[in-house]
Amino acid sequence: MKTKYIFITGGVVSSLGKGISASSIGVLLKKHGLKVFMQKFDPYLNYDPGTMSPYQHGEVFVTNDGAETDLDLGHYERFIDESLTKESSVTSGKIYKSVIDKERKGEYLGATVQVVPHITNEIKARIRKAAMISGADVVITEIGGTVGDIESLPFIEAIRQFKGEEGYENVLYVHNTLIPYLKTSEELKTKPTQHSVKDLQGFGIQPDVIILRSEKKVPDTAKEKVSMFCNVPKEAVLEALDQKIIYEIIESFHKQHLDDYIIDKMHIECDRDIDLSDWNGLISNIKACQETVNIALVGKYCDLPDAYLSVNEALKHAGYERKVKVNIKFVDGTPINESNVQEILGEFDGIIVPGGFGVRGTEGIIESIKFARTKNIPFLGICFGMQLATIEYARNVLKIENANSSELDESCKNAIIDYLPDQYKGISLGGTMRLGSYNCELVEGSLAHKLYETKDIQERHRHRYEFNNKYEEIYLKEGGSLFSGFNPETGLKEIFELKNHKFFIASQFHPEFKSRPLRPHPLFRGFIGASIDHKNEK
Ligand code: GLN
Repeated sequence: MKTKYIFITGGVVSSLGKGISASSIGVLLKKHGLKVFMQKFDPYLNYDPGTMSPYQHGEVFVTNDGAETDLDLGHYERFIDESLTKESSVTSGKIYKSVIDKERKGEYLGATVQVVPHITNEIKARIRKAAMISGADVVITEIGGTVGDIESLPFIEAIRQFKGEEGYENVLYVHNTLIPYLKTSEELKTKPTQHSVKDLQGFGIQPDVIILRSEKKVPDTAKEKVSMFCNVPKEAVLEALDQKIIYEIIESFHKQHLDDYIIDKMHIECDRDIDLSDWNGLISNIKACQETVNIALVGKYCDLPDAYLSVNEALKHAGYERKVKVNIKFVDGTPINESNVQEILGEFDGIIVPGGFGVRGTEGIIESIKFARTKNIPFLGICFGMQLATIEYARNVLKIENANSSELDESCKNAIIDYLPDQYKGISLGGTMRLGSYNCELVEGSLAHKLYETKDIQERHRHRYEFNNKYEEIYLKEGGSLFSGFNPETGLKEIFELKNHKFFIASQFHPEFKSRPLRPHPLFRGFIGASIDHKNEK
């Protein structure tokens, strides 16, 4: 079978949940036995989100091969449970850069370089490359932004051309819109959808499927109207209701026969029957959550919850498995000090310190870690959280004077955490950061080993600084802590844990990127388990 391509666009408003639609279609097709790959086109000019503020853009999601990508890729991976790659994340910046690089090398042989055909060809090449490298049966590509935006026009034009080139039955367009509810007239309005589809048609694209995001059940009459005005068969007009549990969209699309419609329309050869019992089981677990556990997330970017999206999700995954609702409270580390820490953090069942950059708020975060350590409260540290945990221990237990990270105090006397390219021993950094998946070996008998139930693991990184092995001996001598995970090629320390504590573990890598709703991550599972126990003992 030739590769099939599904393009997801959006209209009327942004933040429609296009990514969730795309992912749900991915899950359904995967359940039909197909190999699915997903891709996101972002119309902004940044090369990637790596340098964008978490305040503006939310979390940066990292793939195994070290791409710094949009947080939607996290949704894709959590839904379809496939590891995505650099090919999954394409921005206008990347497209323009490669076209201009080629132009500088003279590869266009003197031609005038233009949006059509040079930019659009580059976009189409990225779609084909994703298909080729992944070997997928179906590639699903989401176009960021809203149809009609100036920025996304080259992407829209490229996917228009794509249908003619790949064959009409091999390309399908799914358009997502909002159908607003007017309280006073008690009506769902289809006009904005009609206009948005007209825009799309104006660019030469006739959508095959229209998904109507709605807060109320969409009556048949509204679907018929959309079908008639937008040239789409009625069975291809679907509703996507606001859901408390986002995973319910999968079953909802299946019940509306979206998968069957796509399979028939694109002549896809695959199993016809599917089994959604795992997802249904998850949903009934979520609904059965009665008990709660209260977790403090002490961090730096607390005004925008999206900045820690994957951490949030990973905490929830671990809760679902135990049928426990995880209440996550974002606590800004900045104002925390010795005299108010009890008041701010005293009531929580567990404390988590996620990743972060720069000095702001760090002394308060270190105080919070000390609180978790000395009060025997379950603690999970991630990346920056691990670095600060080793610093806290160095200062308060090992009494290493002026212990810090050179990121936070360049002139500090004892840089426990330092920029150490010489300790990388030949592994490629891919820029200035350690990015992507690295091997980690766990120390037998450690908490980490117990949680993972295996010795060799791979986890994803995104940081510049490392624990400086020069200080290891002082930790060993004192003996209350343990570096229970290390990189077997370089000896760099990847996990720090305490021996005489209920649950205190911190990783240099980001475990949250590998947690899945149907497969919670061992560190989060252990952390939530310990927090539940802690709550019950109180
Ligand atoms: N700022 C730290 C570093 O660069 C930690 C980064 C992070 O938490 N992702 O090493």
